[in-house]
Amino acid sequence: MATPARPKVFKNFINGEWIEARSGKAIENRNPANTGELVGMFPASTEEDVNLAIDAAKGAYDKWRLTPAPKRAEILYRAAEILIERKEDYSRDMTREMGKVLAETRGDVQEAIDMTYLMAGEGRRQFGQTTPSELPNKFAMSVRTSVGVAGLICPWNFPMAIPSWKAMPALVTGNTVVIKPAEDTPLSTYNLMQVLSEAGLPRGVMNVVFGDGPEAGAPLLNHKDVGLVSFTGSTEVGRIVSQACAPSFKKCHLEMGGKNIIIVMDDANLDLAVDGAVWGGFGTSGQRCTAASRVAVHKKVYSEFVEKFVARVKALKVGDGLDPSTDMGPCINEQQLKTVMKYVQIGKDETAKLATGGNRLESGAWGRGWFHEPTVFSDCDPKMRIAQEEIFGPVVAVIPFEDFDEALDIANGVQYGLSAAIYTRNVNNAFRAQRDLQTGIVYVNAPTIGAETHLPFGGIKNTGNGHRESGEAALDFYSEWKTVYIDYSDRLQRAQIDNA
Ligand code: NAD
Repeated sequence: MATPARPKVFKNFINGEWIEARSGKAIENRNPANTGELVGMFPASTEEDVNLAIDAAKGAYDKWRLTPAPKRAEILYRAAEILIERKEDYSRDMTREMGKVLAETRGDVQEAIDMTYLMAGEGRRQFGQTTPSELPNKFAMSVRTSVGVAGLICPWNFPMAIPSWKAMPALVTGNTVVIKPAEDTPLSTYNLMQVLSEAGLPRGVMNVVFGDGPEAGAPLLNHKDVGLVSFTGSTEVGRIVSQACAPSFKKCHLEMGGKNIIIVMDDANLDLAVDGAVWGGFGTSGQRCTAASRVAVHKKVYSEFVEKFVARVKALKVGDGLDPSTDMGPCINEQQLKTVMKYVQIGKDETAKLATGGNRLESGAWGRGWFHEPTVFSDCDPKMRIAQEEIFGPVVAVIPFEDFDEALDIANGVQYGLSAAIYTRNVNNAFRAQRDLQTGIVYVNAPTIGAETHLPFGGIKNTGNGHRESGEAALDFYSEWKTVYIDYSDRLQRAQIDNA
C-alpha cells in the first residue's frame, strides 16, 4: 500500500478529547514489511502531556469508583460488541503496523474481545469473603476496592491484546487509567481507545499518551497520583520500572522476557512435536515472550526430529503478513533485525551448527522491510549465549539430551521462567514436568504459546515479580483487599482476649 500524500496524524486522548502533544513533535509509525508505507504520525508526548492525563484520570476517579461495578461492566460489554464488528479492520491495521500475519493479528484482536467479555463478567463477581467472626454479634467480610490511577506501559508484540489485559481489569475494578503504548504499535491502542469511548466510557476514565519510554512512560513511574503501574516489556526496562516505583511503594506489576523451551522425549508423537516447535518458534517471527526459542530433544529421536523440523522451517514462506499465503512476517524494526543478526553471528562463533537460515532477506519485496530467514541452530550446548539469552526473533536453538533429568536441568538452567512445554506419552514424566519446571506456564503436548484469557498468565525468576495477568488473578493486582468487621454487640469486644 502506498503512503497517501498527507499521512494521517493522530493525537493523544486526554479527558475525553483527542489533543495534540505539547511538544508538537511526532513519531512515525511505519509498516515493517514495507517501510515506504507510513501508517501514521503519532504524538511524541512528554512529561507535560503525561501530567495532564494523570490529572484527568485523578479527576474522573471518584465518580468512576462509585459507579456500581455492573454498570462499569456494561460499557465493557458494549466495547466487546464493537470490537467484534471491527475485528477485520483492526487486524489489518495491526498487521500493517507490526507485521505479524493476519491469522495472528485476528487472534490478537480476539484476545482483546475475550478479555473484555471476561472482565465485563467480573462486574457482577469480584467476589470477596464472608466468614464467621470469632466474637458474638460481630460480622466479618473482605471486599475488593479500587486502587486509584493505573499507569499502564505496553510492548509492541501484542498491540491490542496486552493493552486490553491491563485496561479491562483496571477499569472493571474501578480504577482510572493512563496508558502508554509501545512507540512501534500506537494504532492498535488508538483503535481500542476509540472503541471504549464509543461504548460510553466517561471522560477522563481512560487516557492515552503516545510516545517513547523515557519521555512518555517514565513520568508515570514517579508521579504521586499514580497508584499502580503495570509494565510488560524487556527485563532491562522492567528493572528501571521496578526501581522507579520503589521509593513511593507503588504497586508494580512486571511481565518481562523469556527463554522458553520445548522438551521432546523419546516417546513423543514426533510429528506433533515438530508442529509445535515450528509454531512455537516462528509464530510472530519468534517475537513472543512465550516463543519456544529452545527445543531440547532426546538423543534417541534427535536426528529424526532435527531432519523433520529443519525441512518444515525451510518451507516457511516469509513475507508481508497481509498476504494470506505468508507464514512468517518481518521483525518489528531495524534494531530488532540487527539484534537477530548479531545473535546469528554469536551462534556461529560459539560453533553451534547452523542447520538452516542465518541471513537477512533483502532481495525483491523483502528489501522494503526488516525480514530475516527462519533460523535453526542444532547441536547447541545449553550454556551457549544463543541458548541462554532472549533473542526475540526467528532463531531456535536445538539442544540434545540423554534423559529426563538432564532435560529438566537444561529447561531450568536459564534466568527466565515464563513458559515451558513437554512432548511425551508417558504420564509420569508429564506430571513430573508440570511439577518441576520452573515457569509460570507449562504445556503438555502443546507448544509454549497459546494462553487463554481466563487463566493466570505470567512468569517467575527474571520474567516476573509475583503478579499475574489475566483471569481472576488480574483482579488481585488491580484491586486492594479491604477487610471489614461490623460489631453489633453494643459493647467493646477484644479479639484474642475476651474470647480466649
Ligand atoms: P521494551 O522494554 O523495550 O519496552 C516496553 C515498553 O516500555 C514500551 O512501551 C517502551 O516505550 C517502554 N519504556 C522503555 N523505556 C522506558 C522507561 N525508561 N520508562 C518507562 N517506560 C519505558 O520492550 P519491547 O521491545 O516493547 O517488548 C519486547 C519485550 O517484552 C521482550 O523482552 C518480551 O519478552 C517482553 N514481553 C513480555 C511479555 C510477558 O508477558 N512476559 C509479553 C510480551 C512481551
